[in-house]
Amino acid sequence: MNILIVEDEPKTGDYLQQGLREAGWLVDLATNGHDGLHQALTGDYQLLILDVMLPGLDGWQLLAALRHAGVLTPVLFLSARDQVEDRVRGLELGADDYLVKPFSFAELLARVRTILRRGRPLPESSSLAVADLALDLLRRRVTRGGQRIELTVKEFALLELLLRRQGEVLPRSLIASQVWDMNFDSDSNVIDVAVRRLRLKIDEGRSPKLIHTVRGMGYRLEELEVKEPPP
Ligand code: CA
Repeated sequence: MNILIVEDEPKTGDYLQQGLREAGWLVDLATNGHDGLHQALTGDYQLLILDVMLPGLDGWQLLAALRHAGVLTPVLFLSARDQVEDRVRGLELGADDYLVKPFSFAELLARVRTILRRGRPLPESSSLAVADLALDLLRRRVTRGGQRIELTVKEFALLELLLRRQGEVLPRSLIASQVWDMNFDSDSNVIDVAVRRLRLKIDEGRSPKLIHTVRGMGYRLEELEVKEPPP
């Protein structure tokens, strides 16, 4: 899941980005309203964290432009001003929550989790599972057979993608654009290396194998006992 932060104060922006990354999300940062709007319109985000006072477009204008364009991504506002009219205005414009600076990171994290839990356009579970593998999307935890598995942020994103589209063959180009936000470079073996690492953590010594290589095409996650050539 991806989060976009729009915050012009470098210290706050970096702090939030770092903290949310460590909590397991993929996080982008924009430092003014125009860049923020562009990224929010073109990127695939599950949550926007908007500072109110921004150069270019302010947070209100950014939210209004987004909603006008039909983008319904949940929004958490950050504001230095604790004024009732700000709060009311934000909620009227369609913000999902409002946090007054200064706030603790733990409080932000709690709000983020709450919004993500309720803020999805379609009723969707906060976990994904296949066989005895389970992903907790809010706590960013993975278990197999009840045992906790430690994944990097990229590995988690890769596994989430495979699970959401289980049974489908996912070409490397699609994985590259969804997980690495990059165009596929045929000389790059980044994806193969990452899949190999993920497979070691998820499938090694376990049955059934879940991550399958489809030769010449890509990767597929499926609960099937398939005989595979040695790597
Ligand atoms: Ca600001």
